Amino acid sequence: MPKAPRPENPYFEKLNVQKRRKIAEARHKRMAKEDLERLKRLHWRKCGNCGMELEELPFKGETVFKCFSCGSVLLPDGALEHLCGEEKRIIEALLDLFKF
Ligand SMILES: [Zn+2]
Repeated sequence: MPKAPRPENPYFEKLNVQKRRKIAEARHKRMAKEDLERLKRLHWRKCGNCGMELEELPFKGETVFKCFSCGSVLLPDGALEHLCGEEKRIIEALLDLFKF
């Protein structure tokens, strides 16, 4: 019988996220402005999962970006916190919206 997954320790998860954030910020600072602009032009409103165009959709006062090719959803910074701060049925409605 397979073992049930062990819940991660929230303290170490938070430390791991902070470490990864610092590494990403340092990488961003090392990049030349031209390289950053080139990457933005190349990936602007493209799905990070499959590379197709993302469609902009209004949802509960937020703008979300949906890939109709693979089903991925991109939430702008702060949108998830805003949406999760509301009642549980908002999350259920969000899940329903993005079902194929
Ligand atoms: Zn996609």
